[in-house]
Amino acid sequence: MSKTSMQDLLRRLPSVDALLQADAVREALDRHPRRLVLDCIRQVLETTRQRLIEGAPGDAPGEPEHATLVQAILERIEAAGSFTLRNVVNATGIIVHTNLGRSLLPREAVERLQLICRTYNNLEYNLELGRRGSRYVHAESILCELTGAESALVVNNNAGAVFLVLNTLAKDMEVIVSRGQLVEIGGSFRIPDVMRSSGALLREVGCTNRTHPHDFVSAINDRTALLMRVHTSNYRILGFTAEVSLEEMVSMGRAHGLPVVEDLGSGSLIDLSRYGLTGEPTVREAVRNGADVVTFSGDKLLGGPQAGVILGRKDLIDRCKKNPITRALRVDKLTLAALEATLRLYRDENRAIERIPVLRMIALSTDALNDTAQALCSLIRQIDTQQRLVVEVRSSSSQVGGGSLPAQNLPTRVVTVHGTEISAQKIEGFLRNNDPPIIGRIESDQFLMDTRTLLPDDLHTIGNAFARLLCSP
Ligand SMILES: *Cc1c(COP(=O)(O)O)cnc(C)c1O
Repeated sequence: MSKTSMQDLLRRLPSVDALLQADAVREALDRHPRRLVLDCIRQVLETTRQRLIEGAPGDAPGEPEHATLVQAILERIEAAGSFTLRNVVNATGIIVHTNLGRSLLPREAVERLQLICRTYNNLEYNLELGRRGSRYVHAESILCELTGAESALVVNNNAGAVFLVLNTLAKDMEVIVSRGQLVEIGGSFRIPDVMRSSGALLREVGCTNRTHPHDFVSAINDRTALLMRVHTSNYRILGFTAEVSLEEMVSMGRAHGLPVVEDLGSGSLIDLSRYGLTGEPTVREAVRNGADVVTFSGDKLLGGPQAGVILGRKDLIDRCKKNPITRALRVDKLTLAALEATLRLYRDENRAIERIPVLRMIALSTDALNDTAQALCSLIRQIDTQQRLVVEVRSSSSQVGGGSLPAQNLPTRVVTVHGTEISAQKIEGFLRNNDPPIIGRIESDQFLMDTRTLLPDDLHTIGNAFARLLCSP
């Protein structure tokens, strides 16, 4: 295209003011700030200009239709005006799904959170003495009550908890840990890296599959600060294996005057073996078996807000509290309010299972899952009046997730959907772009929704989304 005709084309693009007068844009001004609308108009004009200028030679770019520009502007306003952090429907069956926000808070925690955020509170005020107090007292007594520990401290997350413990107790000293436990939990968190950045020197012992007590004993020297155990949350070593038990570690620690630190990862407060999940030690057991310091997450099996709990021997926890880095890892009142309310539910185990969503989902019976699956299946079939979809209920298995209980699956019921003219990919993409987004998975060319992680309102949301899908061309 010649230079002059290009200039012509650019000149003929509508002005910002002209676009501002379009009916649909004027309507958008009622719902969105003027500055945002103006920014979107400018951005669309700019990208259109760029496209005209850079357009491939020979492929003569025509003048964009006014309506096309307006449509692009509306889409941009919609995108800019919507939240980036949004609620989604979790149809994956993974209960503690780290990508989907981990655990859902119990209603009691949400109510407590609302009260404490709406009002002033005694976060750092000692009501008894009428003067400044410490934020660290708040969840401490309930944590000690539930676990039998002497003392407790809550920080931002478990990675922070491990970091703080090592930085406090083992900076520039050696920490002995089994090679079988040098775990990576999601790309960015590797036990060896956290240890290094905390200033502790990692002393690996044993082999990947087998570590024995004498491996630890022969590594102990005057620079040893502590013995560490890490729960291999997200994998299991099977076959010819040997791990040093906590009890063995504690007796070695006592003999050499070294504290034993156990990173439990999930930190379950109740024994889940009655729901078919074995191999997850409870926090109380770890304390009773002599671990000097135990750390775990607040938002994995515990089912509370994101937090890292450090508990155990008072002298060691006191040292952590005094470490200046604690300030950088500190939790806010929202976390403390939600955590305290969640923990209080554990005073009665049955109540905990009823009220804490993570536990309720673990404990769901196959009958209950089947009822939900049948209801969802009939709902979609009813909507699919022209029978373009094949909708079925099938058995499958759900995972707890969050890097806990890797080898164990919970039997569940799923609803599978496939169609003759609609591919599983198309269904998956359409539902993922729904508002709210619905996240399921594809398995052997079928779209699959696990009912274990669905909430009561989700059925309605899924039904509406399928109604829209079936209307769309
Ligand atoms: C999940 C996990 C962590 C990290 O906990 P966050 O609360 O996600 O920071 C650390 N150690 C183990 C063993 C874990 O399973």
